[in-house]
Amino acid sequence: MLPARPPRPVSALLALVALLVAAPSPGDPLPARATHVADYDMRVRLDPETKTLDGEQRIVWRNPSPEPVGELWFHLYLNAFKSSKSTFFTESGGQLRGDRMPEDGWGWVDVRSIRRADGVDLAPGATFEHPDDDNADDRTVWRVPLPEAVPPGGEVALDVTFQAKLPRVFARTGYFRDYFLVGQWFPKLGVYEPPGRRGRAAGGWNCHQFHANSEFYADFGHYRVQITLPKRFVVGATGKRSGRRENADGTSTHVFEQADVIDFAWTASPRFVEVKSTFSAEKDVTPQEYAETAKLLGRSLDEVRLSDVEVTVLLQPDRAVQADRHVKAAKAAIKWFGLWYGRYPYPTLTVVDPAFGAGGSGGMEYPTFITAGSSRLLNRWPLDRVLLPEEVTVHEFGHQYWQSMVATNEFEESWLDEGFNTHSTGKVMTRVYGPWTVQLFGLRIGEGELSRAGNSVDRMFDAIRTPAWGYSPGNYGFNSYQRTDLTLQTLESLLGTEAMARVMRTYHERWRFRHPTSEDFYAVVAEVAGKDARWFFDQAVERPGILDDEVASVRSERVLEPRGVFGEGESKTTITAKEARKKESEADKAGGRPWRSTVVVRRRGEVRLPTSLELQFEGGKSQTVSLQELDFMGGKTETMPLLDGRTDGRPWLGRWKRIEMTGERRLVSATVDPGNRLAIDVNRLNNSRRVEPDGRAAAHWGVRWVFWLQQLLAVVGL
Ligand SMILES: [Zn+2]
Repeated sequence: MLPARPPRPVSALLALVALLVAAPSPGDPLPARATHVADYDMRVRLDPETKTLDGEQRIVWRNPSPEPVGELWFHLYLNAFKSSKSTFFTESGGQLRGDRMPEDGWGWVDVRSIRRADGVDLAPGATFEHPDDDNADDRTVWRVPLPEAVPPGGEVALDVTFQAKLPRVFARTGYFRDYFLVGQWFPKLGVYEPPGRRGRAAGGWNCHQFHANSEFYADFGHYRVQITLPKRFVVGATGKRSGRRENADGTSTHVFEQADVIDFAWTASPRFVEVKSTFSAEKDVTPQEYAETAKLLGRSLDEVRLSDVEVTVLLQPDRAVQADRHVKAAKAAIKWFGLWYGRYPYPTLTVVDPAFGAGGSGGMEYPTFITAGSSRLLNRWPLDRVLLPEEVTVHEFGHQYWQSMVATNEFEESWLDEGFNTHSTGKVMTRVYGPWTVQLFGLRIGEGELSRAGNSVDRMFDAIRTPAWGYSPGNYGFNSYQRTDLTLQTLESLLGTEAMARVMRTYHERWRFRHPTSEDFYAVVAEVAGKDARWFFDQAVERPGILDDEVASVRSERVLEPRGVFGEGESKTTITAKEARKKESEADKAGGRPWRSTVVVRRRGEVRLPTSLELQFEGGKSQTVSLQELDFMGGKTETMPLLDGRTDGRPWLGRWKRIEMTGERRLVSATVDPGNRLAIDVNRLNNSRRVEPDGRAAAHWGVRWVFWLQQLLAVVGL
């Protein structure tokens, strides 16, 4: 163990200023600061000709556990791009999100030296590890034994030098000509999880390999990074710029600094157009919006008050006309994520619009630094009504909340990250831009349709909570993004809008700057909504399966007069069909026989949630009955009991149910889940059925429309 690095006066002052700025008002449940486990002070030089980085790091790691820790585990993630034998390459097949790896565009990172700050060489004994897949050719996880263990609460300081070659960008990070998006670029510690963290029995490093679909899990710390490169480059990065100096060799050094973050990324291009704007907590939020949020969340106005943020958008010149769209989207996201989940605590946000040819670096999230997704085509009618740039900017900003601040393990529980973010993004987009994210030649698509598009019976093979590399082929994205959104929509319909808003707020607040797991979210739901919903999560998140309730048949007929032989022995009497018909016709003349109606509801999927059945009778009368209860056949109208319903909150457990009733009116149709509350239902077309004339589905126009849209979107692969 080594003593702490002596604090520089400047950084101590900055820390004090940051503390004052971030100081919450009294009683504010938002944590003001993260516990810094891993601090990085780095110097890096970019050679734009050879696309190489030369870096030096001083890393200070503090042992967060009650036991000594004798080794350090690192991510060396640029090695994902080193060869066709890396785990990333074999999983992705050398393509990601439609972008193919350019031929021979390899990238790598080498640690040149690693020493304890007292000079002890740590390189001997270091080994590459492959905890996820036994791929001995993967070089993305590196284990470094320490000569002496770091005691509980103690710290170790390391000096590291490294060299990296950036890949030609097709997936997230790298270069294209003189555009650089530099992410996952430095040797970075994994997360040491003490016993009890995320349900662990024993402490240990959680340090996964770089995968096709996951790459984030890290501890909080203070970052100070000095980036040196030719002075013609415009540079953007995580955090606040704290200096720029010109060097004698024609280079500039840009200094960026940020506390309470889990990562650091940066970008450079000589062609960036820089647009600056300020999100104002006073001017960009109306008093009504503050009041409305405080009421929704049951909080004081002080608790929902936001703070100002300096927004920098770095654009390509040919898309500079889209600057306003990005600025508006970024401000909308700062505002609504901030109002609903808790104020954005950092002073800056940088939005990078990737260069043409470098689209693979778009749509990415790093602390206070996100990359957009756009195209020159979207400048003009009719595609300017396709709000894709807005959606991507809002989504990537959302990761500040569901990854960077609530720092979940994206490898093991991607739903807590991508899925929570998809859900929140949809809410912000709808709130700010109205119901339609896409409007094109009369076609209108909203956030709900985008999530439902891939929801089908074919998606029954995975639990939502699955390691990112463990889904059945092709099903990571749907489960981690859209299906989680549909699941949270369904949960919201069961809990109610206000309770759900409070659940999400409390979950974010409680776990900001920490590492929750799914069980921590379930616990917040139980606490805030006052309802243990574990049975819901068991079905909808922890196990594979789908929800598909259908009305299988409906009948409604006049009650028949009895016919046949009645009585015993000598006293037998017979009622003939003719006699019975006569009685029936007399009864009809006198006002009509009652109707006997029968509905059969079937649950085709494994997921069974409480729902209701709407019965439409002749004359416009309707009745809604709960499908939780077995004895609803009395004529009274019942509304759906929610999670705390009259049957111990447990859903109806059968696979099918026959509902029979006798009444004065003829049944016309039956609809299960009439309000479309169970968003995860894979097929809404079979939710409704008419009695006459042929019992065909009574799907109204809206349901059909959603169905055809699903087919269309599935075809175009949106
Ligand atoms: Zn995302």
